Amino acid sequence: NAKDGGRNAYRFVTREMGARSRERLDLEAALRRALQNGELFIVYQPQVRISDDQVVGVEALVRWRHPEAGLIMPNRFLPIAEETGLVQSIGDWVLNEVCQQIRRWKDHIGLSIPVAVNISGQQFRDGQLPAKVAAALDGNGLDGRELEIEVTEGTLIDDIPAAVSTLRALKERGCLIALDDFGTGYSSLSYLHRFPIDKLKIDRSFIHDLEQAGVGDSIPRAIVGLGRSLGLSVVAEGVETEVQLQLLRSLKCESFQGYLFSRPVPAEELEPVLAVRAARGGHPARVPLSAA
Ligand code: C2E
Ligand code: MG
Ligand code: MG
Ligand code: MG
Repeated sequence: NAKDGGRNAYRFVTREMGARSRERLDLEAALRRALQNGELFIVYQPQVRISDDQVVGVEALVRWRHPEAGLIMPNRFLPIAEETGLVQSIGDWVLNEVCQQIRRWKDHIGLSIPVAVNISGQQFRDGQLPAKVAAALDGNGLDGRELEIEVTEGTLIDDIPAAVSTLRALKERGCLIALDDFGTGYSSLSYLHRFPIDKLKIDRSFIHDLEQAGVGDSIPRAIVGLGRSLGLSVVAEGVETEVQLQLLRSLKCESFQGYLFSRPVPAEELEPVLAVRAARGGHPARVPLSAA
């Protein structure tokens, strides 16, 4: 009868929820061990200047190779890391790992472009970030301008005066600052000019929309215009097709990042591409598709 049905439905729901929270607890415990066990690794995606196909930057992106579950992407494990506070130690590890990689690239091929690292809200707000960045740079003998710090609008907006002073400290050390996923957050144009930033990254949802009928290019166009009037460079994220690239070129967007040129790849795979640039400023071939 109806009552039984209701009870069964209830039981079903709790069983489902149980399974889900168990899975979460498993992931949480596994994530605690992941760092010690060396299961996290970094992949790198080049950023390309549209006018001449030069690689002008690189973004570092974290991955987790779980011993049983296989590859786990950051959008799945970083939210858990945020809630458990693990995101701090993961962030510290990423920062040091990336600075060591920049050092290796400098030693091997004379790398001369900035490498961007994503900074989570917690990591940005804890007050230690400028000191940690300085230590990672100093420890590897790097200039500040070799490291770019990517933050989202959401990270900055909570406490604007604190965010401005953290950004200033990072700028004093020479780092570049990029505003990630631009246009998706709490975009209030009134605060933009207060932040000492260098770059806007157009969120890939707007790039995807470029080819959708009726949506058009109004937002990328507006962001490129905003960048120009504020003196910021603009990079488009998630460019997958020649049509998208052509549209961005016609908007005079400065550079792009996306599968069209390269997926994020392990450091060794990117090295030859970066070496071409370091040696003669030549045009690198597109990086072959890889699984990362
Ligand atoms: P994000 O910083 O906006 O990074 C861009 C995302 O777009 C990356 O996803 C990248 O792999 C993906 N992508 C690049 N080109 C294309 C394309 O052409 N098409 C499509 N569909 N996607 C493309 P990923 O690596 O899964 O990272 C997701 C998000 O996780 C990042 O978004 C960033 O917010 C966060 N994240 C990644 N690594 C780190 C890290 O080391 N620390 C922190 N705090 N966050 C990170
Ligand atoms: Mg990013
Ligand atoms: Mg982004
Ligand atoms: Mg994102």
